[in-house]
Formats: sequence, C-alpha cells, structure tokens
Amino acid sequence: MIDENKLLNGTKVASEIRAEVADEVRELSDIGIRPRLDVVLVGDDPASQVYVRSKAKTSAELGMRSETHILPADTGQAELGALIDRLNTDDEVDGILVQLPLPRGVDSSTILDRIDPAKDVDGFHPINVGRLQQGRPLLVPCTPAGVMELLRREGIDLKGRRAVVVGRSDIVGKPMAMLLLHAHATVTLCHSRTRDLASVTREAEILIAAVGQRALIGAEFVSPGAVVVDVGMHRVTDRDVVEHLYPGNEKKMAAFDKRGAVLCGDVDTTRVAPIAGRITPVPGGVGPLTIAMLMANTARAAKLRRGRPS
Ligand code: NDP
Repeated sequence: MIDENKLLNGTKVASEIRAEVADEVRELSDIGIRPRLDVVLVGDDPASQVYVRSKAKTSAELGMRSETHILPADTGQAELGALIDRLNTDDEVDGILVQLPLPRGVDSSTILDRIDPAKDVDGFHPINVGRLQQGRPLLVPCTPAGVMELLRREGIDLKGRRAVVVGRSDIVGKPMAMLLLHAHATVTLCHSRTRDLASVTREAEILIAAVGQRALIGAEFVSPGAVVVDVGMHRVTDRDVVEHLYPGNEKKMAAFDKRGAVLCGDVDTTRVAPIAGRITPVPGGVGPLTIAMLMANTARAAKLRRGRPS
C-alpha cells in the first residue's frame, strides 16, 4: 500500500476543477451562454464508446450541452470532413472533439487540422500546438494540462528543477515537456531510442511517465524523493501479472476478483512508491484530470469565442 501522505490525489483535484467549471458554466448561463461540446465518434470501438459516453455525461453534470455524432466505421474522409465543416460554422457549437483512434483509411491529421482552432478543445490543431510552444496558449491538450494543475494544486515547485518526461507523443509527451519548460523546469524528453533510460530518469526531481508500457518505470529508474507522475493506463486481465505487480495487496486482488481486471500504469507503483517523494496512483491519478480539463477547455472556448476573458 502507498503511504497516503505521498499520494498526489488526482480524483480530489479533478473534482475541484469540475466544481469550478460548473460555477463558470452557471455564470455563463446567467448571461445566455450555455457552452456546448460536440463529440464525433467513428466506428464501434468499445473503449471509445465508453470515453464518449463519459464525456457526454460529465458535460451534462456540469450544466453544459453536448451532442454526440456517431458515424459508421466505413465513413470516408470526405464525409467526416463535411461534418467537421458543419460543426465549425455552427455558432451553437463551442468545442469539437474527434475521438481517436479513427478507423484505418481516415487520415487523423487531415481531420484534426480541419477543426476550427477556436473550437479545438483537445488542443491538437497546429495553431494551438504552435501557440503553446510560443508560451501564449489558447487551448492546451487535456492530459498534460491536467498534470500541470495537479502539480500546481499539490504545491509542487517546478522552477529550476530537473524534470524528465518519458514519451514524446503529440498528445502527451511533447506538450507536457513544453508546459514544464514554460513553468521554468529544466526539461529532458526521452523516447524509445534514448540510451540508458534509467540513468536519465534517475536525474529527475519530477518524473513524468507517458510511455504506454505497463510498469516499465521500476525502482531503478527513480531517485529518492522524486515526484513521480504516472500517465499510463493499462487494463491487466492476467492474475499472475496482478500478483506480481501488487504482491500481498488484498484490495487489488479483491478488485481483480470482482471485475476480472485492474488498471495499472507505466510505473511499477508498488516498488517505486517507497522511494518516491510523491506519486500518482493508478487509478485515481492522472485519469480523472483529463476529462476535467476537457470540460475546462470547453468553457474556455465558449468564453474565448465570445471575446470574454477566460
Ligand atoms: P504513445 O504510444 O503515442 O507514445 C509512447 C511514447 O513512449 C513514444 O514517444 C515512445 O517513443 C515512448 N516509448 C515507448 N517505449 C519506450 C521505452 N521502452 N523507452 C522509452 N520510451 C518509450 O502513447 P501516448 O503518449 O498516447 O500515451 C502514453 C500512455 O499514457 C499510455 O499508457 C496511454 O494509455 C496513457 N494515456 C493516458 C491518458 C489519461 O487520461 N490518463 C490520456 C492519454 C494517454 P517513440 O516516440 O520513440 O516511439
């Protein structure tokens, strides 16, 4: 079990953010603006369906409008592009999110580039990427933005500190590194070709794991006292693996027996937590922050589009 005092509580911070967004939405509604998020889902990937439903549910809980557009898996590039064009020009729509991954045969970059940057609540459009790089962000990718909120609200000082990000995806790793840089950390960005990864990550005072490899970051990757943020999310369905990852952890085993699976991250939490100064759990760390930041981005887009300070 992780020492409670070490935990970076993403669930708590996410619920604070959601409460703040609900207040903002109430204020906007009072002056006749009710932010609306439109989510586009192509195909019938079960995980994507769950994500899309939870986005619609959270929007409703916070008083926002939302529409889900479900298209068949064989939808072509032109048809999907036409829907994006329609949502771009619909003044009622504040945020557009295209659920990834898109089916083979549809070029994701072309579709994401077509979204109006002012409605790009995922922050993936080149305009939003460039603005982030220049330090004048408009809409920032939700997961790294959520990590920054977590660090800020948990009082983690970043100025001048050594931060190492493992993973250089456009969705997490690169924007994460940029946000840390703008917060005055000294940042190293690692990837699959990084030589002797552990020797680099051991330099980290702040270590962000966004690798997509289950429990890759073990004890030998972490220096004593480091702040460890685990972005990874993996569903483990093999009992032996669960027993290896969480030896003697009755709570985890009970959860596994009940549901047939447990979630784990890119960090081997059992072995890293005793060394780390602070650490995010999985679940209950970064996961809840992503959707909270999507809601915050939608409210922000609604304000920005109407020339209101955000
Ligand atoms: P990607 O697969 O797009 O990127 C993974 C990155 O990790 C790549 O840059 C890759 O390097 C690097 N990498 C892979 N293996 C190694 C290795 N052995 N050593 C060093 N670097 C390695 O993943 P994402 O960024 O989309 O996601 C990362 C993780 O975060 C996943 O587990 C995902 O499920 C999770 N996630 C969680 C979210 C949440 O809300 N909690 C939201 C988004 C993602 P290279 O570029 O060289 O290939």
